[in-house]
Amino acid sequence: MHATQLIAEIRTLTPDDEGWARHERTGRACAVCPCGLDTGFVTATQAAAAFRTHTAR
Ligand SMILES: [Zn+2]
Repeated sequence: MHATQLIAEIRTLTPDDEGWARHERTGRACAVCPCGLDTGFVTATQAAAAFRTHTAR
C-alpha cells in the first residue's frame, strides 16, 4: 500500500504593483511516497506517470 503524493512545483514571482505576493506553477512536479520513492522535480507528465505506475503496484 502506497501513500504517494504528487506535488506541483510553485515558483514565487516578484510582487505585483500593489505588493501582493504572486506564485505560478512551473509545469514541473514530483512524486514522493513514504516507502522511499522520490522522483525529484521532473515534468508534470513524467511525475504523473511515475505516480500511476507506483500506486498500481
Ligand atoms: Zn510507495
